[in-house]
Amino acid sequence: MTTAESEAQAVAARVVTPGLVRTLTGDVAGSERTACHSPFTGARLAELPAATEAEVAAVFGRARAAQPGWAAWPVRRRAAVLLRFHDALLRRQDEVLDLVQLETGKARLHAHEEVQAVCQAARHYGRAAPAYLRPRRHGGVIPLLTRVRELRHPRGVVGHISPWNYPLELSAGDALPALVAGNAVVMKPDTETALTALWARRLMIDAGLPAEVWQIVLGEGPVTGPLIVRHADYVTFTGSTRTGREVARGAAARLVGASLELGGKNPLLVLADADPERAAEGAVRACFSSTGQLCVSAERIYVHDALAGTFLDRFAARTRALTMGPALDWGTDLGSLASQAQFDTVRRHVEDAVAHGATVVAGGAPRPDLGPWFHEPTILTGVRPPMLAYDQETFGPVVAVHRFTDEDDAIARANEGPYGLNASVWSRDARHARRVAARLRTGTVNVNEGYAAAYGSVRAPMGGRGDSGIGRRHGAEGILRYTEAQTVAEQRLMPLAPVSGMDDRRYAALLTRSLKALKTLRWR
Ligand code: NAD
Repeated sequence: MTTAESEAQAVAARVVTPGLVRTLTGDVAGSERTACHSPFTGARLAELPAATEAEVAAVFGRARAAQPGWAAWPVRRRAAVLLRFHDALLRRQDEVLDLVQLETGKARLHAHEEVQAVCQAARHYGRAAPAYLRPRRHGGVIPLLTRVRELRHPRGVVGHISPWNYPLELSAGDALPALVAGNAVVMKPDTETALTALWARRLMIDAGLPAEVWQIVLGEGPVTGPLIVRHADYVTFTGSTRTGREVARGAAARLVGASLELGGKNPLLVLADADPERAAEGAVRACFSSTGQLCVSAERIYVHDALAGTFLDRFAARTRALTMGPALDWGTDLGSLASQAQFDTVRRHVEDAVAHGATVVAGGAPRPDLGPWFHEPTILTGVRPPMLAYDQETFGPVVAVHRFTDEDDAIARANEGPYGLNASVWSRDARHARRVAARLRTGTVNVNEGYAAAYGSVRAPMGGRGDSGIGRRHGAEGILRYTEAQTVAEQRLMPLAPVSGMDDRRYAALLTRSLKALKTLRWR
């Protein structure tokens, strides 16, 4: 064990105490055992309960029993729980920053991004849920005579499956709108980052959430994940496209709705009128935040020939200057990869690219002196088909830089491939950048930023097109997906049928005149 690893192990033991694990798992169902590990050392962090098939069914039963009581709370009272959670999270952020770092291996600033994102969601839905959920009036089939109200009912028990890369944001961030809409949530986070999700749940309970309304079950993904899909009234899934397809099939078989936030191979475009220095600084964050294990991070850069030299120089210099390490403090820029599997994928993509003629401009090597899965942030050029790094998601700190001369060609190349999650466009001319953005086939586009401007703007929808998913988190869609719409139409004064002896022909003629009049009156 290296010095860095033995120090990291000592810190982990101080943070993840048996008392903390007991507090977080005390009411979590599971007669079997599983465990989570720290990427900083590869060593076990904690032993955790894993639920059997029968226990998962029982958890859903308890959630289902508790949900109507929770839904009966006035929405403002439910929203107040989110606002108290918001304050408690800011107050106690150091506790969860330690857990996120220990479980994911990421740097502290990147862990703090999760605190920011969850606070944004808690504040937004805590304040705006009453407006999103209130009954809405609509014009009826016959103006004034048909009164229409659209009600929003909770779906019941939402099943939520989340990955390891953003364990606070992708557990709590998605659970909050489901809860405030009056649902119960049964969540299966990735076991390797379960402590973070369990900590967030405990904080919500401290903020006033009835414990049965948000429950967590742990277990092997391919075993416990399908059990969530089997019992849920609606499924939210974040993870790989491959697993997302299985979840979609399971939800389709039961005819329950699902939103799927999946993988990406996100392009970043540096247009001819960009500031290369600013673009280089932004590209470092776009490519290497959370050590590149971020669904919206950039893995393909298209830079205009006129500034490619300057951009690449600045980008490479900034990348080489990044510091790495396992410290639970603000002193390092980058952390570790999260697992052996992630490390192996990164190595495979880099070695394959180099073997087929790509050039390593920065990084390219593992850092075993820091921990088992540390890997340098890596910039490649000359990446072409059929290299793996060309079109497959690496989900690590590896980016391929390509040059272009024709902007239409760059847009076409950015739109290549099955994914459509996030894109980034750099230009000094905002109108130019917006025109390019509108031509990109992605769910979000960030202008003069990598990903955080769109992701952090929680009033607006975020999600993927194509193989990057179905549905959106954030904004109206991010909460209304957790509701069933019900239309209540009330007919007044006259029926929707011929009246007082009018025959069908005259009634049809009357309706024909009415339809023409409604169009003329611009009735929508
Ligand atoms: P993954 O699909 O392997 O696992 C995600 C979750 O699904 C885990 O909790 C896992 O235990 C569970 N699971 C595994 N098999 C299952 C099955 N058969 N049925 C149901 N659940 C199952 O993904 P991962 O490797 O943990 O996460 C990385 C992927 O997630 C990347 O592709 C990344 O792009 C994507 N991601 C997307 C977003 C987004 O918002 N679009 C955000 C973060 C990560």
